[in-house]
Amino acid sequence: MPLRRRARRALQTPVAGRPLRRDPRAEREPGLAAAAHSAATGSAINVGPSGRLRRDPRAVVRQAGRSATGRLRIDRSGRAGTVSHDRGASEHVDAGPELICIEAPAFWIVVVPDYEGGRLSSHDRDVFGAARKLSDGAEGAVVAVVFEAGEDLGAAGADRVLCFDDAAFAGYAPDRRAAAIVAGAAALTPRHLLFPDTAVAGGDIGRRVAAMLADSPAANVHRLRADEAVSRADGDRADYLRAPSRVLLMAAECELPIGADRCCEARRLEPPAIEPSRTTITDRGLLPTNPGSVPLAEADFVISAGNGVTDWTAFHALAEVLGAAEGGSRVVCDAGLLPRERQVGASGTLIQARCYLAFGISGAPQHLQGIVRCEKVVAINTDLHAEMVKRGDLSAIKDAQAVMPALTRLLEVRVGGA
Ligand SMILES: Cc1cc2nc3c(=O)[nH]c(=O)nc-3n(C[C@H](O)[C@H](O)[C@H](O)COP(=O)(O)OP(=O)(O)OC[C@H]3O[C@@H](n4cnc5c(N)ncnc54)[C@H](O)[C@@H]3O)c2cc1C
Repeated sequence: MPLRRRARRALQTPVAGRPLRRDPRAEREPGLAAAAHSAATGSAINVGPSGRLRRDPRAVVRQAGRSATGRLRIDRSGRAGTVSHDRGASEHVDAGPELICIEAPAFWIVVVPDYEGGRLSSHDRDVFGAARKLSDGAEGAVVAVVFEAGEDLGAAGADRVLCFDDAAFAGYAPDRRAAAIVAGAAALTPRHLLFPDTAVAGGDIGRRVAAMLADSPAANVHRLRADEAVSRADGDRADYLRAPSRVLLMAAECELPIGADRCCEARRLEPPAIEPSRTTITDRGLLPTNPGSVPLAEADFVISAGNGVTDWTAFHALAEVLGAAEGGSRVVCDAGLLPRERQVGASGTLIQARCYLAFGISGAPQHLQGIVRCEKVVAINTDLHAEMVKRGDLSAIKDAQAVMPALTRLLEVRVGGA
C-alpha cells in the first residue's frame, strides 16, 4: 500500500543514527487544551483535538441570541447560555446595579407597557430593551407611560415615568388611554412610541394612537434599529423591512431586556391635566373562561402532570380552583390520561406561561424544551435530584398525591374566607 509507506517514512526522522518517533498524544495536547478552553468559554470558534478550528453553530446562535430565522431566543429560565436579566442578577449582585441618570436627553422614546395589575410582563421588558437600544449611545432617554402604580420601572429601563392613575383610565378604556398618551406625548414630541403588540392592551391602544397621529405603524416588529424596523408577516414566512415608523408595535423577544447590572432613574413626570375624553365603550368586566379551553401556548398559568400523578380527580380539582390550564408530559398523554393537545414539550406545545406548576414530572430534556420561556417554575417531586427540581424556581420534595388535595383545601379556605 503506497500511501501507508509514505506516512510511515514521514514519522521516522533519523537523528544521531536513531529514528525519532513522533508522539501523537503530545502533539494533540495544545489542541486539547484549546478545545477545553473554547468549550469552557462558550466560544463559537472551537479548536478541535487536532488543533483545527471548528465553528459551533449552536454557540453562534447562543452568542447572537437569535434563532436561524433571525428571531431572538430568550431563555427566561436564567440557566442557559442566552442572556437574561436573572442571570445578570447573580453575576452583579455584589457590585449593585449602576444607576443611569440622563438629565437633558437629545430625544425621547416613549414606551407604553401593558403593565397589567402593575406588573411588567416579559414582553414589556423586551420592549424596554428595544427602546434602550434606540436611546443608548445616541443621548436619548426612555419615558414609560402607565395607568396605575406598580412594579419598579427603572429596573426595566425607564428614565422617566408618566403615570395617569385616574379612575377614568381604569379597566378597559383603550380610547381614553390612547388620548392620554397622545396628550402626554405632545409635550415631549418623542421620536418613537413603542407598544407591545399584544391583544390584551398594547396592540389595540398602539393602533389607536397611530390613527390619532396619522401614522402608519410597523406591527409585529421583531428587530429594530435606528434606521430599520423588521416586521414578520404572512404567517411568519416573510420579513418586511422599512424605516421605523413613529408608532412601533413590538413582537415578544424583539430585544433582550436590560441586565440587572443597570438601573434607570424612573423619575416621575407630572402628567398634563387632561379631561378624560367622551367614550362610547362600556366596560362590562371580564368574562370567566374555562381554563381547560385555553390553548396551552396562550395560557398564563399551567398546571402539569407527569408519571408521578396517580390521583387524577385531585389534579383536575386543583386545576379548577387555581383557574389554570392543564398540561402533561408525553408519558401521560401517551397513556390517554390527558388529550394529545395538552402535551408540553418539544414534540408537544412550547409554552410561555408566567407560572408552570409541575407535579411528578422528571424533567426530561424534551419536556424542559417546552418550558424554556416560562417565567416561574414550581416542581413537586419525590426525587430531590430530578431535573425538574433543578429547573424549578421553587420545589417541594413531596408526594404529588398529598400536595394536590392539600393545596386545593387551602385555596378553597382562602377563597371562601375572602
Ligand atoms: C423524540 C422524543 C420526543 C419527546 N417529546 C416529549 C415531549 O414533547 N414532552 C414530554 O414530556 N416528553 C417527551 N418525550 C419523552 C421524555 O423523554 C420522557 O420520557 C417523559 O417526559 C417522561 O415523562 P414523566 O416525567 O412524566 O415520567 P417519568 O420519567 O416516569 O418521571 C416521573 C417523575 O415523577 C416522580 N414521581 C414519582 N412518583 C411521584 C409522586 N408520588 N409524587 C411526586 N413525584 C413523583 C419521579 O421522581 C419522576 O421524576 C420525548 C421523547 C422522545 C424520544
